[in-house]
Amino acid sequence: MNLADVQRALNANGFPCGKADGVLGPATKATVARFQTAYNNGPWLKIDGVPGPLTSAAVSQLPQLSVHFVVGELASHGNGDCYVNRELLVALEILRNRLGMPIHIIDAYRDPRHNASVGGAGSSMHLYGYAADIPQICSWRLVAGLEVFSGIGDRYGAISHIDLRHRSAANETPQATPEHPARWTY
Ligand SMILES: [Zn+2]
Repeated sequence: MNLADVQRALNANGFPCGKADGVLGPATKATVARFQTAYNNGPWLKIDGVPGPLTSAAVSQLPQLSVHFVVGELASHGNGDCYVNRELLVALEILRNRLGMPIHIIDAYRDPRHNASVGGAGSSMHLYGYAADIPQICSWRLVAGLEVFSGIGDRYGAISHIDLRHRSAANETPQATPEHPARWTY
């Protein structure tokens, strides 16, 4: 993949970088860094904004971002950006393995405008690519027992929201950890 190919693949898969002109400008570097931050379908990439051989090979795997998850199910339902963090994908893979079946992701990354339109909190972990909403198929006990997620929202004991708030500077419950997650009920 040459640089223009990388730019085209990023543009087509939730990582907009502007015109595919083969030039490594600031917009492309910022977007490459976003992609490097999200990628979890192989060894983690160095987050430097430079599309070297490892990053280009990873881009060529798009829309696959993780073994079982693709851009389409993680990207914002607003503008289509897919600014998730690889730590979230690791956590979702762990949950999927525990359940032994696919997880339908209802909502993961939300761009600010979309988050506002769905009434999301201003500090929602969805804004930072550290949260996912899932169907209510697993119990509080099962999810908390993984000791992976630090924010868990449930309705009558069935989980609908999971996040990794301990990873985010925007976290408003700094005491929450994967061992002692913040829990709330909708
Ligand atoms: Zn949520």
